[in-house]
Amino acid sequence: MSFHYLTKSRYLQGLQCPKLLWLSVNEPEAAGEPDEETEHRFAVGTKIGALARERFSQGVLISEDHFHLTKACQSTNAAIKAGAPAIFEATVLHKGLACRADILQRVKGKKNLWSIIEVKMSSKVKPVHHDDLAFQRYCFECAGFKILTTSLMHVNTGYVRDGGLDPKELLTQEDITKAVLKKSAGIAKTVKKLSTVLTGSKCPDITAGKQCLDPYECPFFDQCNEPPKEYSIYELPRGQRIIPMLAERGIELLKDIPSDIKLSSRYEKMVLSVKRRKPIIDKPGIKEYLDTLVFPLYYFDFETINSAIPPFDNWKPYQTTPFQFSLHIQAKQGGACEHYAFLQKDATDSREPLIKRMIALLGKKGSIIAWNMSFETSKIKVLAERFPEYEKRLLALLPRFWDLMIPFSRGDYTHYNFHGSSSIKKVLPVLVPKLSYEDMEIQEGGTASLKYERWLFGEMETKEWRKTYRDLLQYCNLDTLAMVEIMKVLKKNI
Ligand code: SF4
Repeated sequence: MSFHYLTKSRYLQGLQCPKLLWLSVNEPEAAGEPDEETEHRFAVGTKIGALARERFSQGVLISEDHFHLTKACQSTNAAIKAGAPAIFEATVLHKGLACRADILQRVKGKKNLWSIIEVKMSSKVKPVHHDDLAFQRYCFECAGFKILTTSLMHVNTGYVRDGGLDPKELLTQEDITKAVLKKSAGIAKTVKKLSTVLTGSKCPDITAGKQCLDPYECPFFDQCNEPPKEYSIYELPRGQRIIPMLAERGIELLKDIPSDIKLSSRYEKMVLSVKRRKPIIDKPGIKEYLDTLVFPLYYFDFETINSAIPPFDNWKPYQTTPFQFSLHIQAKQGGACEHYAFLQKDATDSREPLIKRMIALLGKKGSIIAWNMSFETSKIKVLAERFPEYEKRLLALLPRFWDLMIPFSRGDYTHYNFHGSSSIKKVLPVLVPKLSYEDMEIQEGGTASLKYERWLFGEMETKEWRKTYRDLLQYCNLDTLAMVEIMKVLKKNI
């Protein structure tokens, strides 16, 4: 049996669930390979780590990877002896524990007094970071270091990139020593307990529960959790209050909810639709809403990115920003739609060309139809904030927005096969079975953002981009075409 150190990530896994710790060491293949998103997050994390190091002059990087921990430990000791003011990836090993600190900084003027700084791509300190640093502090103290402070360096969402990336402004450092010390109480016992789990030959017997998603979705989720049955109470949207109450009464399926339980009108329609195996349609409600449409109709959809690192100047970290749109225009009642799209081919800042094209195509009157319009309108506000010269024309678009999701989200059109969702991905295959996202290379917005971000940040070869470019156009096109077809179904039903 091979030896496994209790590392920081294993410690955090063990805190979430000892079974997760045991499985990730003994059955790692069951967790699957890291997907494209995980790889990209890893690449962004690496870039943020490199930017953080730029803030420390004369720091020494311990270059040995986690397969060479003994050597990394020796290099760390050598850097300390040589008087390095900061050591990146400083490594200690102590009685089965292995720990690497992103930054170990020598307290000015002190020979053996240090600060540990953990670098994260998150936008704020989270409770899990306290545990993360408590483990690091414990390991370094066990190895003979005196630790003065423990801090988290994270992304500063108030930063606006200007004249290139400035690591001093992009990242902000928060001293969280107090909270870390609180977490440190009793840590020796926890470490001992988790070390026993790690070296044990039997998988801990733990029932699935809240911990499967908190603080992270467990990679073994499907192994421990049965998928909920179709048409179960878990399909009730925003059901945080009612679902536990129903579950406590032993009710699992929507059709079994007894009449003495008072349900909201939307929930009642869902139950009725499941029982009758038919859609429940409020024709007057839908008609009244459709009557507020003003021609020409503009079916509009953005794709966006939400990058931790602003790719260009005049851009904030994590500011969700459009890079693509699709537009179907129907000039008059009963007329055919014309399709337009925007997606820049090269990896340069596309926001201004996108704004110009959008303003030109959307004209001055007519309803702009979106699915969950608050998403599109909030992104237009982001563009207006970043490009004040277009602010007036951009903000003038907002009152023209019209939300096609509303008849579904408020239950005017309820179908048991929407499974309680008003997402276009759930509504489309039921109402327009001939159109589907299923055969598409890109099937949802998250993948579209991920691919575009990879292209912008140089993580994608041109050959892959050429294909991705076509896939992105196809995907976004389907989002607006789907709205055109769903509208036809609504009109037919009133
Ligand atoms: S799915 Fe839940 S119970 Fe299973 S290992 Fe993960 S956290 Fe533990």
